[in-house]
Amino acid sequence: MKDKGRNGLKAISEPEDRHNRTDVVVVGAGIAGLTAAFRLRQQGCNVTVLEAADQVGGKMASAERDGYVLNRGAAMVPKAFTALTRLCADSGLGNPFKDVPLSFGIPRDGTVLPLGGAGLAAALGGIRTNLLSWRSKLLLRRLLVDMLRWQRRLGHDDIEAAGRYDTELVTSYAERRLNREIYDYLIDPLLRGIYLSDPSTMSVVDFFLTLGKFAEGPPMEYPNGIDFLARHLASLVDVRTSATVSSVSRIDSGVRIVWHDAEGEHSLDSRGCVIAVNGADVVKLYPDLPDRPRELIQSIPYGSVLKGIFGLRRDPTDVPTVVVVPSCAGIGLGVTHVDSRAMPNSVPRGKAVVSGHWVDSFAKSTARLPESDVLDQMVRDMEAVIPGFSQELEFAEIVRWDTATNARYVGFYRTVAELRSLTDTDDVIQLAGDYLDISGTNTSAESGERAAAALSKRLRVGA
Ligand SMILES: Cc1cc2nc3c(=O)[nH]c(=O)nc-3n(C[C@H](O)[C@H](O)[C@H](O)COP(=O)(O)OP(=O)(O)OC[C@H]3O[C@@H](n4cnc5c(N)ncnc54)[C@H](O)[C@@H]3O)c2cc1C
Repeated sequence: MKDKGRNGLKAISEPEDRHNRTDVVVVGAGIAGLTAAFRLRQQGCNVTVLEAADQVGGKMASAERDGYVLNRGAAMVPKAFTALTRLCADSGLGNPFKDVPLSFGIPRDGTVLPLGGAGLAAALGGIRTNLLSWRSKLLLRRLLVDMLRWQRRLGHDDIEAAGRYDTELVTSYAERRLNREIYDYLIDPLLRGIYLSDPSTMSVVDFFLTLGKFAEGPPMEYPNGIDFLARHLASLVDVRTSATVSSVSRIDSGVRIVWHDAEGEHSLDSRGCVIAVNGADVVKLYPDLPDRPRELIQSIPYGSVLKGIFGLRRDPTDVPTVVVVPSCAGIGLGVTHVDSRAMPNSVPRGKAVVSGHWVDSFAKSTARLPESDVLDQMVRDMEAVIPGFSQELEFAEIVRWDTATNARYVGFYRTVAELRSLTDTDDVIQLAGDYLDISGTNTSAESGERAAAALSKRLRVGA
């Protein structure tokens, strides 16, 4: 693997034919854009990736501090994330993932109750703890039956099937089939911890798709910061960082991309383009986007997330690796994750990195407060999950994401199914990114694969 270091990627390489023609320009070096670029390169395309930030990875980026590797966005890679494992294998990394013996917990009445593994195992783990009353424990059998039924309905990543069944709030499903306690202490914390917004607006499809993903196996261990894959893919294609695209438009011979960097504005013509940025940015930089896809993309809002990354003097051994916090706990913290257990080589010996993710409403309500006040509140919330947290704290970093993950609502899957049917066309401009499915690293990589396949077919490369 050619490792160029985390920052300073500007030195990677100049686009091959910067002022003239390249086969395909990819806008955005998040996992969606880099996957598209790598797959197109495999097909023999000459690809140039333009990235606005000064490093690759987007929401899958990492940074270094005093010998610690800090994941700025994503941190968990569940076993069901097969697009990522496929990418690793195909790009020469082999299988860098290992199953982490995961522990999972949910706080109730001031104590974090450890459950079994992820997903269903964790849900059934509720049977062995005091998380649920006996009445609720008996009702979990229904959840198991429903889960099997939903697995058959939803198939594997079938967005149209998800759209067809996306008609009920998860709260109303829980009321109809389960009870309030199971909703409050199992369903709500799972959804809130994963999507970091209010579960009461989410669909029953969100719940069963999420449970299905985590039931397939626990999150996996990876070799260093979560950006290892983005950096590896970036080393295999031409990437220009600190290069911001301002417009993508159709011309007779293909596509014209206007972009700027420290040296000024540039124009680059290509045969095709993959736009792999947030939905909100797509509509700004792609004026030719037809009305209906534009409307659909605008109807998929993003939520904000406030992430705290904490260096600790030692691993909080009694605390489960992942703790998801229910809304009824009354704090803004949605999930904690002991990152250093997923990437053990990424911290000084004996130390730990723990991340906390605060939900959309907390992120928005604290956006204008002084950082020190926000941090005080964050540390108090972390104490609720990790007793003695503040005594072990060596440093803290806060990362604000205003377009973190797409907001969940009933009807989301119908919107996405329609959007994908309109944009998976024979166009020279293809879209990829985390608004085309439930936001996540794996679904973004899949969107990059779809865009690359459509474009290579259109450009008749690799035939
Ligand atoms: C705090 C947080 C925690 C998360 N945790 C997880 C997790 O544990 N597991 C998981 O699977 N997912 C997680 N996610 C979601 C996941 O990280 C994202 O859905 C995924 O990484 C998105 O990838 P992407 O390539 O679609 O978009 P992005 O990563 O957003 O990439 C888009 C890229 O385009 C660039 N760009 C934007 N505009 C321009 C422009 N005009 N010109 C050039 N470049 C541009 C951006 O700088 C960015 O690098 C998390 C997200 C956040 C924010």
